[in-house]
Amino acid sequence: MNYYGSYVSRLIEEFSRLPGVGVKSAQRMAFYVLNGPADRAEALAAAILEAKNTSKYCKHCYNITDDDICYICANSKRDARTLMVVESPQDMAAYEKTKEYGGLYHILHGAISPMDGIGPNELKVKELLARLDADSPIAEIILATNPNIEGEATAMYLSKLLKPLGLKITRIAHGVPVGGDLEYVDSITLMRALQGRLEI
Ligand code: ZN
Repeated sequence: MNYYGSYVSRLIEEFSRLPGVGVKSAQRMAFYVLNGPADRAEALAAAILEAKNTSKYCKHCYNITDDDICYICANSKRDARTLMVVESPQDMAAYEKTKEYGGLYHILHGAISPMDGIGPNELKVKELLARLDADSPIAEIILATNPNIEGEATAMYLSKLLKPLGLKITRIAHGVPVGGDLEYVDSITLMRALQGRLEI
């Protein structure tokens, strides 16, 4: 319903497309923008466009970054022998918050989900294999995909794929609830999951 004129209705519609935002919240956001100062609205619009237009993938790990290489890959103090495979930049951030992990990451940008038409080719799997050439210092790969059906399927697929390379392959273990989403798991639980990882 076009109660507020077409411009505001469009703004409400755009906000309501965001994940987790219902129509009521979208209305609140739209009126917050409308009732606030013009420079706040401009800053919001500019932040959206800049993030969308200038962010790119790190050449090594496929994290989101402003530069060619992300701050983690650029840090020579990180342990280049350990590589943690996660589904999303948010999962990477969750592990970084634990301050327990000093290795590098590889971000798949999703998980295998045949129902949604997502197979290994839709993920950064080729790019992962490319990092494991003969010169690579990587000795251990930690499969830290989410403990749900898609994440488990992805971990199984990767472990079969990577086993022949003779690397140590581990899977995060204790503490992470089955069906859970790593992004929302607290730091201590994640830290225990990492410490309790099992070779597979
Ligand atoms: Zn990186």
